[in-house]
Amino acid sequence: MSQPTSFDFIIAGGGSAGCVLANRLSASGKWQVCLIEAGPADRNPFIHMPAGLIPVVRSKVLNWRFWTEAEPNCGNRPMFWPRGRTLGGSSSINAMCYIRGHAWDYDHWASLGNEGWAYRDVLPYFRRMENFEAIDKVDDGRSFHGVDGPLNVAEPRHVNPLMHAFLAAGQQAGHPLTDDFNGAQQEGVGLYHTMQKSGQRCSNARAYLTAAKGRDNLTIITDAHAARVLFDGKRAVGLRYVKDGRIHDLKARSEVILSAGALGSPQLLLLSGIGPKTELARHAIAQVHELPGVGENLQDHLDIHITMREKTRHSISLRPLGVLKAAVNLVRYLLFRRGELTSNFAQAGGFIKSDAAQAIPDLQWHLVPFVYAHHGQKLAPLFKHYAYTLMTCFLRPESRGRIRLRDADPKSPPLIEANYLATERDMDALVKGFRKAREVLNMPAMAKHAVDELEPGRAVQSDEQIRAYIRAKSETVYHPVGTCKMGRDAAAVVDSRLRVHGVERLRVVDASVMPTLIGGNTNAPTTMIAERAADLILQDAALERSVPNYRPVMAPAEAFAGK
Ligand SMILES: Cc1cc2nc3c(=O)[nH]c(=O)nc-3n(C[C@H](O)[C@H](O)[C@H](O)COP(=O)(O)OP(=O)(O)OC[C@H]3O[C@@H](n4cnc5c(N)ncnc54)[C@H](O)[C@@H]3O)c2cc1C
Repeated sequence: MSQPTSFDFIIAGGGSAGCVLANRLSASGKWQVCLIEAGPADRNPFIHMPAGLIPVVRSKVLNWRFWTEAEPNCGNRPMFWPRGRTLGGSSSINAMCYIRGHAWDYDHWASLGNEGWAYRDVLPYFRRMENFEAIDKVDDGRSFHGVDGPLNVAEPRHVNPLMHAFLAAGQQAGHPLTDDFNGAQQEGVGLYHTMQKSGQRCSNARAYLTAAKGRDNLTIITDAHAARVLFDGKRAVGLRYVKDGRIHDLKARSEVILSAGALGSPQLLLLSGIGPKTELARHAIAQVHELPGVGENLQDHLDIHITMREKTRHSISLRPLGVLKAAVNLVRYLLFRRGELTSNFAQAGGFIKSDAAQAIPDLQWHLVPFVYAHHGQKLAPLFKHYAYTLMTCFLRPESRGRIRLRDADPKSPPLIEANYLATERDMDALVKGFRKAREVLNMPAMAKHAVDELEPGRAVQSDEQIRAYIRAKSETVYHPVGTCKMGRDAAAVVDSRLRVHGVERLRVVDASVMPTLIGGNTNAPTTMIAERAADLILQDAALERSVPNYRPVMAPAEAFAGK
């Protein structure tokens, strides 16, 4: 039977957001939905085994393996940016820490003019999406969490003793203990809840596509690279994609939705003729609509780490004892879904303030029980050391980067200018964070595990030395957002219903629409965005069906002209 070529909704990108939309838009059976994903189906067993995240991040098939341009404030280093390239997108390769961000972040979005995105508006969506296993074990769990949603959120099945030592050390350093970073009290040190079920990764593909896959009205096309949106004037009418070297055009009766992530969605808009005039002209792309903000406003969390050599040998290494432990853990995982291979490694962390003047935490910690070496790309240090690494990032950076086109070929990687550390404030906050991290690592509960500081080493003490170390060694913690930002100002790309300004029947739904980076990891916020977007899309579609001459309202010109 030949595949249909006309759908009500076409979603480009089967990642964290795309999987949510595919499920919710097809749930009623009324709408024909098509999901286009550039990568393969998520069959690789390493995706599902939590500790498989290291081979998965090393993969050339499941990871786009992007690189930024040379970063001017980070020693002119191009920096490695992993992004998921399979069903589930980055939720199939991420570290599974379940964090929503601070209530302030969403109230801030609303204060920028984004109606419907205040914390009180988004909390019901956070609750709708989750099945929070620990609901009765955390303070006031029922006010903050849900138990009926598809995304399973679990307590860690395996906690390395170093994590407990870290929680004790954090308290010795004066940080409170919190049992739920997503509940009443974000501030403090604690264990991360994880997006896992029964010891396996619960990616958004597992959570949202498993139940939806068999629906007659949902078509999922993998290994299909979206090339551009097709327009009739300023109205999106379809999507072009490339599969097996052949071009295919699909018709959209209702809407095209871009969910290709913070790098893919602006790239697709630009390839489709929507973006800054100069950028379109530079690549001889016919302009459909000028939108100066496409690809701008890129924000990311930048991490700096401290690694301690360990004497108690709880950490993960590839030294003989470590390999023996790994073998035992493999058996435990295969037979019982227990042990270290159920671990996302970053089992403990914290949200802390860089100084007492901060109203809410502005730094985040992730502790991992091994030597941190370039996103798991370099394994050699694991053969040498037992060690643990504490990573610190500043949560609300002022620096803004951008995404541009390298050329007009849809298969070329986007040009990424992260522009980290462009302001003094961003650097100062990381220096303070570095000092706080060193303080906690030297508290008695943690110090008893340490031989010495492996990186950067005790010689690095002055602010200037710490700054130089940050410039030389900081790395992404994988949270790029903001490149199709929601808003009403001249740089906004979508309105608060996530419709692209100035054109019809086109939305962006993914991490790119965040106007500002939230204080935490970004998968749960992206999932929430897609949950809410599904409601908005279905409301508009229902209205259009019941009112024959109804057209989705174009965002008013004055809104994006900043008047
Ligand atoms: C290594 C890593 C660790 C992370 N750890 C955590 C964590 O512990 N906790 C957390 O909350 N967040 C974490 N994140 C971040 C989080 O996973 C992302 O913010 C989130 O997945 C973004 O969702 P998205 O839908 O915007 O994009 P993605 O999930 O990246 O989805 C985009 C999808 O679009 C597809 N695509 C792109 N271009 C095209 C095209 N032209 N045609 C067709 N398909 C296309 C991609 O292949 C991908 O499947 C991590 C991310 C990474 C990479």
